[in-house]
This record gives sequence, C-alpha cells and structure tokens, in this order.
Amino acid sequence: MIPHALTIAGSDSGGGAGIQADLKTFSALGAYGLSVITALTAQNTRGVQAVHTPPPEFVRAQCDAVFEDIRVDAVKLGMLANADIIRAVAAALAEWAPPFVVLDPVMIAKGGHPLLQQDATVAMRDELLPRASLITPNLPEAAALLGVAEAQNEDEMVRQGEKLLALGAGAVLMKGGHLGGETSPDWLITSDGVQQFDAPRIVTRHTHGTGCTLSAALAALRPPQPDLVATVSTAKTWLNAALAQADRLEVGHGIGPVHH
Ligand code: PLP
Repeated sequence: MIPHALTIAGSDSGGGAGIQADLKTFSALGAYGLSVITALTAQNTRGVQAVHTPPPEFVRAQCDAVFEDIRVDAVKLGMLANADIIRAVAAALAEWAPPFVVLDPVMIAKGGHPLLQQDATVAMRDELLPRASLITPNLPEAAALLGVAEAQNEDEMVRQGEKLLALGAGAVLMKGGHLGGETSPDWLITSDGVQQFDAPRIVTRHTHGTGCTLSAALAALRPPQPDLVATVSTAKTWLNAALAQADRLEVGHGIGPVHH
C-alpha cells in the first residue's frame, strides 16, 4: 500500500522549504503527497520578501476537500502563520482524526522573517500541540512554546522535551542543531523514556528547509513503520544524506536548499 501523506503548510516560491520541500520529500520516500496551503511566501534563498495568508475558512475548505474524499495516513503541520489558521486546522484535525500528526512548530525563518505571529504561540501550545502524535521543535521553538530560556545543553533539552510531553504531545523530538557542537544531537522523548540520536554535523551553507524536510520525512515514513524510534532513525539518516548532497545543487545565491 502506498502511504498518503498530507502537508498543511506554507508555500516557498524558491522551492527549498515549506510545501515544496514536503512534496519532494514525500515523493522521494515513496508516499503520495497531498497539500493544504496555509500561506504563500514570496521567497528565495536570500530570504522571505512577503507573506500572504488565505482566510482561515479557505484553509478549512482545503482540509475538508482532502479528508472527505482521500484516505490520509499521516499529516505534517508546518507554517501556520496565525492563531485563526491554527484554530481552523485544529478543528479540522478534531473532526477528521487522522492516525498520525507531526507538528513542526515553525516560527521564524533562518533569515529572521517571522512565519508565525507572536501571539499565536499560545494557540499552538494549547490547541494544536495536544493533537500532535509527535512534535519536532528546535531549541528556540521549544523555549518559545514553554515561555522559558533556550536550552544550553542536552540535559536542559531533555527536561524541556519532558515538559512539552506533559502538555499533551504524543512524543517530542527535540532537535539540538542549535547547540552548535561537533555533532547535532536530537532527543526523542516519549512516555516510554528518552532516546538520543547523534549525527555528525554536516558542514554546508545549504541548509534551507532542513526542518521542513525532516518533519515531512517522518510523516512519509511512519505509516508503514509502527516503531517510532525506527521511524526517527530512518528519517534522520535520510536527512543527513540530503544535507550531504546539498552542495551539488546550485540554487540561488543565498542559503540554498538541501537535496531532496
Ligand atoms: N518558508 C516556509 C514556507 C517554511 O515553512 C519554512 C520552514 O519551516 C521556512 C521558510 C524556513 O526555512 P529555513 O528556516 O529552513 O530557511
């Protein structure tokens, strides 16, 4: 059976992040990709120039159009732009109850442009996080969700992951790339315990869309793979290969995309 993976996220006109990264990742990993577009960004490898968001009712209409006709095995949530869109997506998930939901709590692009309004963090924490089977925050996103300072080491990462689990997420994958060491340690926190995934830091300027790509890979790989630890391990190995090949692409003049 070919898995059906749905991304609910923003478009990146430069093709490296957002919906475009997600659909490329789904295809590369053998899933059929579906998309609900929550925002349009005018964007290239140099940054985000403008953002346009549809009315929340139109986001909901896209969700309903997909779910009422097409089987969805996994959902990935990316850029959700504002609290009204978060509420529309949360209501659609409550009604259609897809079996696996990965929440990538996208907040700020690498170039510094906000992708989520600041006052929407509370709605994300209270209304969406409890509906996620897995959330994949980086360290600034975890700190913003918890309203605390950013973790400075792996012990603090795990403690913050445990707090996010207690807020109702099914599992938490804390991404440690921002610690800046020689490796890039991620920690998976579930009710069964904690597990570290260490990976060598790959030196490349072309890291645009890394977070989108990992969460999309998790959504594509999960349906045929009931074990979450194995899913994370496979997704991370695949992302590292995409990063290792990023320099083969010559896309744009700024921070280029990973090679999906
Ligand atoms: N643009 C969109 C639409 C995104 O969803 C994301 C990330 O989630 C980004 C840009 C940010 O990409 P990056 O921070 O990897 O450059």
